[in-house]
Amino acid sequence: MQRQPRRDTSPELALRRLLHARGLRYRLDVRPERAVGRRADLVFSGARVAVFVDGCYWHACPRHCSWPRTNAEWWRDKLEGNAARDRDTDARLMKAGWTVIRVWEHDDPREAAERVAIAVRAASAWQCFAMSEEAATDGR
Ligand SMILES: [Zn+2]
Repeated sequence: MQRQPRRDTSPELALRRLLHARGLRYRLDVRPERAVGRRADLVFSGARVAVFVDGCYWHACPRHCSWPRTNAEWWRDKLEGNAARDRDTDARLMKAGWTVIRVWEHDDPREAAERVAIAVRAASAWQCFAMSEEAATDGR
């Protein structure tokens, strides 16, 4: 059972180290979109990619989640509420044009880093293309 604060957990640190080693730069624990009002763990503003590293316990991972026996009902509501809020955050960000990547704390950080790197590169490539199209129509 994971009861520590969700920031700077070791799976997140491992992921950050791997991304940094790949030359990817991000902001930590910021709101990707002001209007959405929720923070992501890693934010790639240019590429519009938001990464969340979710603790298995607090975010009700289907593989490791177990409902506590005391106050079971209260916990169930609480944890299901967290999971519903996650889905809602994803939907809002995607509507605002963000790519959302959710990484479980049980995921292999190397695989997670690969997923993030692919998304960031894909978004950056698309932006370069969009910019060169723009430049072409501007006659520059
Ligand atoms: Zn898990």
